[in-house]
Amino acid sequence: MHLMNADLHCHSNVSDGTLSPEEVAARAHRNGVELWSLTDHDEIGGQARAQAAAQALGMGYLTGSEISVTFAGKTVHIVGLGFDATDAALMQGLADTRGGRERRARDMAADLARVGIPNAFEGALKYVGNPDLISRTHFARYMVEIGVCAEPHEVFRRYLTEGKPGFVEHRWAKLADAVRWITEAGGIAVVAHPGRYDFTPNEEYALFTEFKGHGGRGVEVVTGSHTVAEYAKYADLAIEFDLLASRGSDFHDPSESHTDLGTLPDLPGKLTPVWEALSERIVRA
Ligand code: AMP
Ligand code: MN
Ligand code: MN
Ligand code: MN
Repeated sequence: MHLMNADLHCHSNVSDGTLSPEEVAARAHRNGVELWSLTDHDEIGGQARAQAAAQALGMGYLTGSEISVTFAGKTVHIVGLGFDATDAALMQGLADTRGGRERRARDMAADLARVGIPNAFEGALKYVGNPDLISRTHFARYMVEIGVCAEPHEVFRRYLTEGKPGFVEHRWAKLADAVRWITEAGGIAVVAHPGRYDFTPNEEYALFTEFKGHGGRGVEVVTGSHTVAEYAKYADLAIEFDLLASRGSDFHDPSESHTDLGTLPDLPGKLTPVWEALSERIVRA
């Protein structure tokens, strides 16, 4: 049986990736991706370009975005797939979610200055492709450039995560709102990389119960953020909660990302792929 090579989670320089939407499309196609979605953080400004590039390459396309949500005091990412990218409520919701990023970045820079790293806001900005979307990733790239750390992961570990000197608490969208924006725009909401959140089993159960209650329908099972053991764990969870399964590399950059576009294992055969429920939303060449 031929399983579709779908990669439904990755980033361009419209958020915190380093390649343009066209370059990500070309790389996905070169790697054998047959169905692609560009899922920039809190942003759909790259969708028209991504879709046009996919169509020119003969690759199927689903609209996408990865929305930042605050749930139980932690940041959770919800991927939306197959929505109408001109939907007004979705566009406004994403704009509101992006809105606090500059303030947060200035506060992060002030924190970093206190521990001897000056001008980090200006430094991070050099790496930003979209002024509306300054991210911790841009700070990490700058701090590697100036030699504070050897690689971005180390910057996150030492500076940009909870309890560390460059971390600033931030309130993102509400779970209910993010799921509603996606769903009412005709798309499907998917919990991104659930293995990354450090939730207790009770918190994780609450996340999926509430997510479903709000109309969420999918979960990422095979992602660049999961271990092989987590593929199995979240495959079981997809069955338990009757969720569609998604697959995506979470690619950001050729050298930083350990998982390249289109190179992950297939979804376990017992699952229903999210794209089967989105066949009418797929744009083909
Ligand atoms: P932000 O939305 O500004 O909070 O940035 C979140 C982004 O930072 C994620 O989408 C990842 O791209 C990146 N990130 C988070 N944790 C790490 C980590 N430990 N190492 C490298 N990148 C990370
Ligand atoms: Mn990212
Ligand atoms: Mn994410
Ligand atoms: Mn991502």
